Amino acid sequence: MSNSLKPGVVTGENYRTLVREAKKGHYALPAVNVVGTNSINAAMESAAKNKSDIIIQFSNSGGQFYAGFGLEDSFEAKVLGTVSAAHHVHLLAEKYGICVVLHTDHANKALIPWVEELIKHSENHFESHGKPLFSSHMLDLSGEVIDFNLSESKRLLERMSKIGMSLEIELGVTGGEEDGVGSDDDIGADNPLLYTQPEDCLRAWEMLSPIGHFSLAASFGNVHGVYKPGNVKLRPEILKNSQDLIERTCETGSRPLDLVFHGGSGSEKGKISTAIGYGVFKMNIDTDTQFAFSKAIGHYVNESPKAFLHQVDPEDGTPYKKLYDPRKVLRSAELSMIERLDEAFVDLGSVGKSLAK
Ligand SMILES: [Zn+2]
Repeated sequence: MSNSLKPGVVTGENYRTLVREAKKGHYALPAVNVVGTNSINAAMESAAKNKSDIIIQFSNSGGQFYAGFGLEDSFEAKVLGTVSAAHHVHLLAEKYGICVVLHTDHANKALIPWVEELIKHSENHFESHGKPLFSSHMLDLSGEVIDFNLSESKRLLERMSKIGMSLEIELGVTGGEEDGVGSDDDIGADNPLLYTQPEDCLRAWEMLSPIGHFSLAASFGNVHGVYKPGNVKLRPEILKNSQDLIERTCETGSRPLDLVFHGGSGSEKGKISTAIGYGVFKMNIDTDTQFAFSKAIGHYVNESPKAFLHQVDPEDGTPYKKLYDPRKVLRSAELSMIERLDEAFVDLGSVGKSLAK
C-alpha cells in the first residue's frame, strides 16, 4: 500500500497516516505557531524547501491578531481570525506541494468555548466539504484535576471524532509554583511532581482511545515558561515507561501513544532524538521562530536607519521608498524565520520525508 498523500491540509485517516509514518520513520514534524500571513507563508515555504510536511498551529491570541486587534469583540475575533487563517492555509497549502496539519495550541479551561466554536466551524465545513476545517485542536487542562481533564477531553473528542478530527491533550504535573515546586532548590531530576506519571497516561489511553484519535503532551522535564530553562532535566525515559505500561496492560502494539514535545526550545539534540524514538511525532516551535522573525526586522532597520525616519533624505534628497516598502522589511523577516525552520527540520529528521505526491 502506498503511503503517499495529496498535498494540502490533511485530516482524519490521512492525518493518522502522517503520524504513523513519522513514528515508523523515526522523525517528527515541527508544529509552528503563526500569527499572520507572513509567518504562515514562511512556514509553508520552508516545509516545501525541505520537502517535509508541517504542522501549523494558532494560539487563541494568534487567531485574534489575525482577525485584527481593532475588532471590539475579542472572543469573536479569536474565533473568526483562526477560521480565516485556516481558510488561507486550505487555499494555498496544496500549491506548496506539501501536507499541512492545521492545529490550535494550548487552550485552558477558560478557552474551552473558543475550541467549541472552532469545532462548530469544522462541523459546518464537514457538511459542505466532507472534511473538517482543522485537523486537530489542543485542550490543555493540565492545570485542573485529572478527572476533569479527562472527562472534558472525552466530551470534546466524542464530537470531534465524528468528523475526523483529532485531539491533543496535556497531562500535567501535580505540583506548581504555589506548591513550592517552582523554587530553584527543589527542582531535581527525582522530583516526581515535575514529570507526568505513566499511570495517568494509561488512564488517558483507556478512556480516550476507544473514542477516537488523540495525542498526548507529557511532561518529561520540558518547561514552558514557569521554570528557568536548564533547571529541570529532560528525562525522555518517562515517555518510554508510559508507552511500556500501556503496551503491557492493554496489549497494544509497540509505542501506542502518539506523543508531543512542548517547550523544547534549547533542548539537547540527543535528547530530542531519544524522545522521537519513544514515540514523539510533533515538536512545538514558537519562541525561536518569533525571535528569528523579529531579529531580522531589527537588523534591517539598523542597516538603513535614515529610511525609517525620513521618506526622502533631508540632506541629499535620496528617496527611501525602496527601503521602507513594508514588503522588503517583512520579507527579510520571513527569510530569517525560514532559516530557523531549516534547522528544526534537520533536528527533527524530517527533511525529504514529505508524504505528499
Ligand atoms: Zn504544553
